Amino acid sequence: MMNDSSKVNSAPQALQPGLYIVAMPIGNRRDITLRALDVLTGVSAVACEDTRRTGILLADYGLKKTLLRYDDASGAAARPALLKRLHAGESLALVSDAGTPLIADPGYKLVTEARSAGIAVFPVPGACAAIAALSVAGLPSDAFYFAGFLPRRSAARQSALRTLEPLTATLLFYEAGNRLEEFLADTVVVFGARPVVIAREITKTFESFYTGTLGELTPECTLGECVVLIGGASTSENNAWEPALKSLLAAGISAKTAAAALADAFSVSKRDVYQHALKHLPTRP
Ligand code: SAM
Repeated sequence: MMNDSSKVNSAPQALQPGLYIVAMPIGNRRDITLRALDVLTGVSAVACEDTRRTGILLADYGLKKTLLRYDDASGAAARPALLKRLHAGESLALVSDAGTPLIADPGYKLVTEARSAGIAVFPVPGACAAIAALSVAGLPSDAFYFAGFLPRRSAARQSALRTLEPLTATLLFYEAGNRLEEFLADTVVVFGARPVVIAREITKTFESFYTGTLGELTPECTLGECVVLIGGASTSENNAWEPALKSLLAAGISAKTAAAALADAFSVSKRDVYQHALKHLPTRP
């Protein structure tokens, strides 16, 4: 149930003291929430990865705030001062360069230490590249596993991928465009021919989505920021009808029509084939 302060036209309420974890846009600067702007206006300072970058972004929203550097390199040294201010009853915000803090970004130790010190920590939700990509990829979204960035060296990356190989949930990875080719090569070695979607430069000028099968998909462009989504391990890989299903779907046949045809041909449940197609393969219903 929404409270009164959540009405769009209500005046922002005074902030409760505490640490506010504020999501920023992942490209399009209009993807900031009204509440994020209220909170950023109300806090006494904003902790951020790059004070210059955040200063420019906040200036776009007409905000000029005290900015405190907080990143992986400075975190250990910066935390005591931030926690002291929070203990004294201030309200502070933590933001990332893009998206939601702590999601492949700094903030975990600050949140943990603040919470164990009894300081209130408030989420101010908004953009996150992984969730934005999942929402449009057309891969099963009922269960997903966010793996973030994998190691850069191929041997270490393949061993990380192997631990994910049995998972039936959709797998989500972050990767820079210029490392995409090597990343995809390792996923083929470990996963074989699974459905894959690459979401590149989401909400930016060159936003693009590539859909296909691991081993066959070669994105035309290897620049920019990417989320790679890979279908989970199939729960019925031994089904005799699976290769035929893949071929029919690849030829543009709808999941419903393909399921009906294969149910007759293989004397199996139409519903099972249909559900399998929706869950594990790129389809149109
Ligand atoms: N905290 C961010 C979030 O909530 O998504 C992620 C920050 S992480 C340091 C940066 C990585 O996120 C990029 O290398 C890329 O994999 C992914 N990413 C961020 N913005 C993106 C975008 N607009 N399109 C595609 N991927 C993006």
